Amino acid sequence: MSNNPYKTREGGATVTVFVPYDCQNNCPFCVNKEEYGDMSGFSRDKICESIHTMDEITPYCDFVFTGGEPFADLESLQVMLDQVPKTHKVYINTTFPVFADRTPQDMLDFCERNKDKITCINISRHLVKYVEESDDELVGSIPVPTRINCVLYKNYPREKLTDYMDRWNKYGIPIQFRFDYTDTTPENLYEEEHDKILADLKDFCKYTGLDGCRMRCGYHFTYRDLELTYHKTLPYSTIVEKEGDTTYDILYDILIKQNGDIHGDWDGKILDVEKYRHVKFEPYDLKWLEVVE
Ligand code: SF4
Repeated sequence: MSNNPYKTREGGATVTVFVPYDCQNNCPFCVNKEEYGDMSGFSRDKICESIHTMDEITPYCDFVFTGGEPFADLESLQVMLDQVPKTHKVYINTTFPVFADRTPQDMLDFCERNKDKITCINISRHLVKYVEESDDELVGSIPVPTRINCVLYKNYPREKLTDYMDRWNKYGIPIQFRFDYTDTTPENLYEEEHDKILADLKDFCKYTGLDGCRMRCGYHFTYRDLELTYHKTLPYSTIVEKEGDTTYDILYDILIKQNGDIHGDWDGKILDVEKYRHVKFEPYDLKWLEVVE
């Protein structure tokens, strides 16, 4: 573990919580699936304790629930959501599955009951179908803000892009297209000339601007009435940088794993919680880099 002091953005690094139960899918780009192969040691109680720890240190940070599949166990999701005070924004990454033991209405009722707790539900719907999908109508009627996440993976079918955007324009749900982040490097994060996705989106949509920081960037577009972004992020979440005579580990994401362990990066590094209690805050470096009128 590095001895560098921590720095993070105002409000604190985003805390991503891996729920202690699996999805029933096998997406080819999934980097989390393997961890759900052996569930021994998974603990909802320990996750809840870690949520409390992170709330205590950074009471205004964002929380993201991911998996696995957060909505696979509504009772457990409810218990974990109930641990997060309202000072935080809460996002849920999901395929919004409908399983045999529940109706679509059960899913909507859950969202309705928790609409004060959930900032946005990010629903994976890829251009190529990898998972059993619930109806678009159901997704369109979720009573909290929603966004579609779509990984444009390897040789994705470009010819399907406009139909895909029309599909979500019908419900007014914004789309975030994503570069496969396992392929992102500091060199290609802002590289535009050879970026096929960027070129395709510029062909079909109106480009409106670019925002970004050290770690990630977003190209913004409109398509008919719809807002779209194309998001790229590095596969790790710590930037090592010198300020004066001190070298800092600048943290963007903190992870609560399925067994409750708190990691300081996606590569398995454990967070030094005591050190993080003394984290130095800096203004968030995300800013508009280009705005097109
Ligand atoms: S649904 Fe999500 S967690 Fe499950 S295999 Fe696909 S990407 Fe991985």
